[in-house]
This record gives sequence, C-alpha cells and structure tokens, in this order.
Amino acid sequence: MKKNILNTDIYNVKNPSRYIFGEGSIKHLESIIDNIRSKSNSEAVVLIDEYFEKKDEFLKKINLNQKDIIIFISTQDEPTTEYVDQIVVDIKNKQQEPCAIIGIGGGSTLDIAKATSNLLTNPGMASDYQGWDLVKNEGIYKIGIPTLSGTGSESTRTCVMTNKISKLKLGMNSDYSIFDQLILDPELTRSVPRDQYFYSGMDSYIHCIESLNGNYRNQIGDSYSEQVKSLCKSVFLSEDMQSDENRAKLMVASYLGGCAIATSYVGLIHPFSAGLSVALGYHHCIANCIAFGALDEFYPEEHREFKEMLNKQNISLPKNISKQFNSDTLEELYQSTIIHEKPLYNALGHDFKDQLDRKKVDSIFKKM
Ligand code: ZN
Repeated sequence: MKKNILNTDIYNVKNPSRYIFGEGSIKHLESIIDNIRSKSNSEAVVLIDEYFEKKDEFLKKINLNQKDIIIFISTQDEPTTEYVDQIVVDIKNKQQEPCAIIGIGGGSTLDIAKATSNLLTNPGMASDYQGWDLVKNEGIYKIGIPTLSGTGSESTRTCVMTNKISKLKLGMNSDYSIFDQLILDPELTRSVPRDQYFYSGMDSYIHCIESLNGNYRNQIGDSYSEQVKSLCKSVFLSEDMQSDENRAKLMVASYLGGCAIATSYVGLIHPFSAGLSVALGYHHCIANCIAFGALDEFYPEEHREFKEMLNKQNISLPKNISKQFNSDTLEELYQSTIIHEKPLYNALGHDFKDQLDRKKVDSIFKKM
C-alpha cells in the first residue's frame, strides 16, 4: 500500500526558515542576535546543555554577548512537561519577553528551547500542548544550534516531552515548533563521546528506515530518507566515524532526517523505544538502539546493517536488561508502546493491535 503526501494528514509542509552550514559557522551567532536585538527592547535567552557548563573552550567558541541571559539545561533525564514549565518560569523571572530563544545542545536541549519559546506566547502549561496543532500563537524567535547529530530535532515540527503524571511521551507538534534559524557547525560535535555519537547518529538511520518501510509514503520523504540512509552507512561503516568529513556528513543526515519526518511517520522502533524511556528512563537514542536490536523480524535487512555498523565501530549495546522486568514493568512497557497508534499503524496497518497483542509485545521486550 503506497500512500501519497496528502494521506499523511500533513498537507502543507514547513521546514526551518534559514540555516547556516559549515565548519566555524558559529561565528555568525553574535551578528544574528545583534540584528534581532536591535529591533526589540529585550535580551536573548540562551539555553545551553549543562554538559558545557565548565567547558570553557566550547563556551569561548560560542562567544556570547554579556547581555545574553544564559540558562544551563539539565539533560540528566529526558525533557518532562514539568521541567519545561519550570524553565518557562525561570525565563519569565529574568526577561518577560526575550527577543530570541537560542537552544545549544543535543535533541533534548533543542526540544526544550522550542517548547519554552512557544509557552512564552501561549497561556497554560506544557502538558496542554502535547498533541497535534494545539499551539495557537507564534512563539519567540527560535535559533537552534545542535552539538550532537542524529535526532533531527533541529528540523522537525515537534518537541518531545514526557508527562510523568499521564505517562505520555508526546511532542508539541506544530508549525510553530519549527526553528526560525539554524546554525549547523560540525566543529561543535568534535568532543562528543564515541558511544553517544553512535547511538545518537543511529536515530537518523532509524527514522529513515522506519519511514521507508511504512505505509505512509511520498516521494519527497523517501528521497530524504534514502539520502540519510546512505550518509549514515558511509559514516558508520568507515574507519573513523568522527573524522571532520564524517561529522559534517552526520550533521547533514540529522538535518535531512528531521525534514524526512516532516512528511512521514516513524514505525515500530520508536514506540518500543518510547516504552523503554517511559517505564525505565532510558534516553531516546540508546533506547532506540536497544529496541532495534529486538525487532529484527520486522526489519531483517536493516537489522543486519545495524549489526555490521555496531561491529565496525566496536560499540556494544546494554545486554539482558529484561532481567530487571517484573509484571508491573511489562504492563507499563506495553501501555507506553501501544499508545503510539500512528507509527504502529504506519508500520503494520489497520490490524496492528492483532499483530502486536500483549503476548507478542512482552516477547519482544523479553529479548532485550
Ligand atoms: Zn528519534
């Protein structure tokens, strides 16, 4: 079953408005902020992954103006609606309506930047906007600067948050969640630890193979996805996945992967990964890799490629995590997986609940 772009319920696709790409392109940040600040009476708020708090060399590269308000973002846990609400209060206490929100970090920090920007101009709490097209007013001008490649957060229209009360891991899906400006500087990913670089980069590969194997298909999404798959393979099957050239390639793959998602859906791996994040607190990218490892029967060819890339880079996945599962864990894993109807329908069709009954879902988790 091949569907065209109109059948995905995504009628009119929006991508980030502007981007600067290339080694050293971070040097343009200052003039971009100056330009925005000159049209307003307020300062910019910069949200930076706390990983960089004591990395003076990195902070020097970013060269922020003394006027900019800096808030370090905790990425210990994945973004929760509660944490996003707390950051919004923190921003409001420092600057009621900043001229720009700048997110510098991995997918979590970028997602928090997008969400807080929208919440500064829309009433209510983060949890009010988990879903599709619920944001009514345009947010504060958003600038995204990824320091880790793979999630595609820089180019998607969502910012994923976990609601600890409803156990829902769902994004603020909206055209208003798209960055106005990106700075894609591969130099900023130079110091990423190897494992994290691999797990995070695989998110791009996984998004694309899920889309390419899905029921909702269109030529634009497929073209992006094919290119991302090929970039990821060339990076992760090479001798030095973190060479200058490969870091640039992976940054492009991440950006294009996000664009691909704008016109398509993910498949089976993301729902199982979400289960692992909600029930056990695993971060998105490593959870994806663990889930992918147990879904070989659905993606046999790609699973073989995944194993080849793991071996080539000498990266290992956490093993035997299912040993800690009890019946409560399995129930929570099941509920937080099966709730993702759109991607599961995309992967398996109308009768996905028959194919993924409780016994089947349990058996997949028990392989992990
Ligand atoms: Zn993902």
